[in-house]
Amino acid sequence: MTQSANLGFPRIGAHRELKKAEEAYWRGDLPASALQETARELRGRHWRAQKKAGIDIIPSNDFSFYDQVLDMSATVGAVPTRYGWKENTVDLDTYFAMARGRDDVTAMEMTKWFDTNYHYIVPEFAGDQTFSFSSRKAVEEYEEAKALGIETRPVIIGPVSYLSLGKMKETDADAMALLPALLPVYVELLDTLRQAGAKAVQIDEPFLVMDLSASQRAAYRDAFETLSSCGLDITLATYFGALGDNLEIALSLPVAGLHVDLVRAPDQLPTVLDAMAADKHLSLGLIDGRNIWRADLSAAAALADTAKDTLGAERLQIAPSCSLLHTPVDLDLETRLDDEFRSWLAFSRQKLGEVVALTRALNEGRDAVADLFTQSDRARDSRARSSRIHRDVVKKRAASVTSADLDRRSGFDERARVQQERFSLPVFPTTTIGSFPQTKDVRKARAAHKRGDMDDDAYGAFLREETERAIRRQERVGIDVLVHGEFERNDMVEYFGEQLDGFAFTKNGWVQSYGSRCVKPPIVFGDVARPGAMTVDWSVYAQGLTGKPVKGMLTGPVTILQWSFVRNDQPRHETCRQIALAIRDEVRDLEAAGIGMIQIDEPALREGLPLRLADRHDYLRWAVDCFRLSSSGVEDRTQIHTHMCYGEFGDIMPSIAALDADVISIETSRSQMELLEDFKDFDYPNEIGPGVWDIHSPRVPSVEEMVTLLRKAAKVVPAERLWVNPDCGLKTRGWPEVEASLEKMVSAARTLRNAEATA
Ligand code: GLN
Ligand code: ZN
Repeated sequence: MTQSANLGFPRIGAHRELKKAEEAYWRGDLPASALQETARELRGRHWRAQKKAGIDIIPSNDFSFYDQVLDMSATVGAVPTRYGWKENTVDLDTYFAMARGRDDVTAMEMTKWFDTNYHYIVPEFAGDQTFSFSSRKAVEEYEEAKALGIETRPVIIGPVSYLSLGKMKETDADAMALLPALLPVYVELLDTLRQAGAKAVQIDEPFLVMDLSASQRAAYRDAFETLSSCGLDITLATYFGALGDNLEIALSLPVAGLHVDLVRAPDQLPTVLDAMAADKHLSLGLIDGRNIWRADLSAAAALADTAKDTLGAERLQIAPSCSLLHTPVDLDLETRLDDEFRSWLAFSRQKLGEVVALTRALNEGRDAVADLFTQSDRARDSRARSSRIHRDVVKKRAASVTSADLDRRSGFDERARVQQERFSLPVFPTTTIGSFPQTKDVRKARAAHKRGDMDDDAYGAFLREETERAIRRQERVGIDVLVHGEFERNDMVEYFGEQLDGFAFTKNGWVQSYGSRCVKPPIVFGDVARPGAMTVDWSVYAQGLTGKPVKGMLTGPVTILQWSFVRNDQPRHETCRQIALAIRDEVRDLEAAGIGMIQIDEPALREGLPLRLADRHDYLRWAVDCFRLSSSGVEDRTQIHTHMCYGEFGDIMPSIAALDADVISIETSRSQMELLEDFKDFDYPNEIGPGVWDIHSPRVPSVEEMVTLLRKAAKVVPAERLWVNPDCGLKTRGWPEVEASLEKMVSAARTLRNAEATA
């Protein structure tokens, strides 16, 4: 018999119970015991739901108070010395201090989990790092499930991926050198699990779908040689891509079974089957753990049948492609979606049903689950035909894009000349990135409007007032290029998605982004079109208030794509191109309405990079093309800006330059302008605004430090191409620190101008 398995369930709760309890605990409004109780209740509920759904192999230790990588750091006692931790076990408050910082210490770094929008806490290792078994969480959760009568398969991040996810501090040594010190703790953990009664574990090694170094490859062999002696049935879980050139290593490791992602990489199945040793089991990741679409069960069953023909039913498990962490909990809560649309979707709970349906089809024949297959076929067919999805005009237009559509009329030098004539900006022109503080009043008004307690007129009047105040404040401070403040926007992607055809929104489709923070990504389900202008009225209104230029403010196509659930019935670049065309039309409408500068934000460009080096080139080509498609439909006299929330461009510098934005603003203050080196080495040709004010904290920088940063920048980039701006948008800040900081920023720019004039 084939078994159904799950690799992980969302931990936050269908109603974000964990988020609410944690935040109350952090505020001091909830005792630790109540937080623990909520967590226990959620774990129990999720285990029971999986059991009830018919999942044979249910995970434990997939729960986390913050992040599973941080959990592993706690388990192996990798607590940086600054937390002053001296106990035998890592307590909850030390754990949260590592995640979020404490009055006296900063948090650990956080970064994206592979190519998802989930963020993990980056392990920090010293050159002489030691490890000790310091959290029994995995064992306790196994025992907790067992006490509920549910046998589970604990999930553990494997030692090679764990070390690979971390950063060595103050040493250039290879983290793999720490493996011999780390492995005994893993052995102790597995021994303890076995003693508690566990029979199997899932060891996640997603790095097996990445390009590996020689030392990582060697580490895999050493690590699993050691772990294989623990007497547990180990399933080596890989996901987010194909094993590719790591297939041989993965299959040579002495483990009981292998999990492969057949949603991202269905083509790898024949090769995997060919190479499987006679004694291993194979877990088929057939249900998409990364997206919200109902599975095409017939297509998935065909893959499962192939595997069964080769390996036999006994050696197979059916599972989601990866942990369900990345999909919302329950579609049944979406009461406002129409039936047809709902029939296209599956959230975590529904995906469990799909896993079970596939397993039963293998074991009992498809007739046993005929209804589910029929529904799946029907959803697939209706998606293939629906006029809500397919619009010929959109497809035709996207297909007729030519390379001429991707080019500005003239090169940068000519444009810069025309634009300088038009705008007559001083050297070191000052600007901001777009948003101004989303104060309590702004959020209150938006909520009241959404509830229907504030009518459109009153809300519109409120927003106009806020916008005008923001314009006056910028004028008073003496900023050269203004912004309207984005008060009318909830979120930089949602705001556009809500106005575009082809997008849908859920009421409860939350997924964890980091810690207690959840996001509700839009769903791009159909061909994208723009029924009408989206931002022109606001930009025109703001520009009408002042003689200074006000930048039109748009979110770029790659970022809209990257922060949404994207349709899976056409390539991502196809969908991106449709979005780019909609933005292109908006850019042209802004230009026609007299807006002279237009900023197209692409903070997600870099995070869209594929996991494998070999795939990067392709991605960067279409991503850059989409940006250019959105931005190139304007006259030379219109100045295109872009913004990215990071400054680390080293390896993608040619693509950043290829965007051909007239001005780019980036984050650089935290790195003391070090990140600008990339621009120097590459000889970046256009204008740059390296952030001089770190907006991630309320601290007001001094004039002197901004002057110092600007002087540093001027050593790297010619002064006539430098702009002066903060690192990012200011929506999370308060007005007092914003006004104070902007005044100092303007003084800093003036100091440099004066120095320039007297030089
Ligand atoms: N214009 C946006 C803002 O200022 C940009 C935000 C971002 O890049 N994440 O809020
Ligand atoms: Zn930013």
